[in-house]
Amino acid sequence: MSGTDYGESVPGLTQVLAYEHEDGYMSDASDSTRRDFLVLGSAAGLWSAGTRLGVTDFAAEGRRSRAVTPDEALQHLLDGNARFVKGQSLSPRRSPGDFRALAAAQYPEAVVVGCADSRVPPEIIFDTGLGDLFVVRVAGNVISGAGAAVKGSIEYAVAELKVPLILVLGHSGCGAVRATLQRLDAKQVLPGAIDGLVELVEPAVTASKEMPGDPVEQAVRKNVELGVEHLRTLEPILAPRIRQAKLRVAGAVYDLKTGAVTLVEEQA
Ligand SMILES: [Zn+2]
Repeated sequence: MSGTDYGESVPGLTQVLAYEHEDGYMSDASDSTRRDFLVLGSAAGLWSAGTRLGVTDFAAEGRRSRAVTPDEALQHLLDGNARFVKGQSLSPRRSPGDFRALAAAQYPEAVVVGCADSRVPPEIIFDTGLGDLFVVRVAGNVISGAGAAVKGSIEYAVAELKVPLILVLGHSGCGAVRATLQRLDAKQVLPGAIDGLVELVEPAVTASKEMPGDPVEQAVRKNVELGVEHLRTLEPILAPRIRQAKLRVAGAVYDLKTGAVTLVEEQA
């Protein structure tokens, strides 16, 4: 494959990043040139608040790539969460200079597939800024059975934006998981589309039923694990990239009480 190419640095503070699309996907995008160019203004200004994601390094060392490995991307998330937990968030890249520079293109480091719960906003709990995360949020962070809207969003980020990491993020006390347990216990049909939604969480609840400990927390964890497993086998976009070590799919659970994110499964 052609991979990602980066243009030459323009003398001075201006840098040009060139990103080449992979052949054969999203052919309707950028059909005139098949290249997106992000012209960064002052590298120092753009990443002024950046002390993570490697961007400070790249600005300082004159590297032209913001590309990171899957493991580095995951470490950046964990480092950001550690800052958040300690009340030391940097809240990077949220100034007018940042969003103006990002208007031309995006280079997120990770896809986060998380719950719609108002208490679990990925950008805040991972202390990231604009353009850092490609976030897909749906109640119960359901993936299998969620259809093209969820899977297509994830696949778009990987195929088109070359995101190296997908993190499936569940959380303690998840209402969607709790509703699924109650629905199974009471054998009730929930109103509207809620019933169809919780049905998607049912496999996790069923698979974790015999596990010791709190049934909601066990089901939350199992739901993340099933989501990770599903994504890892998803052809034709995700699975090949995992085999080529260009993509990692990880799972984690966010603790509502502590703010801490804990990985639930390591890469197979
Ligand atoms: Zn939830």
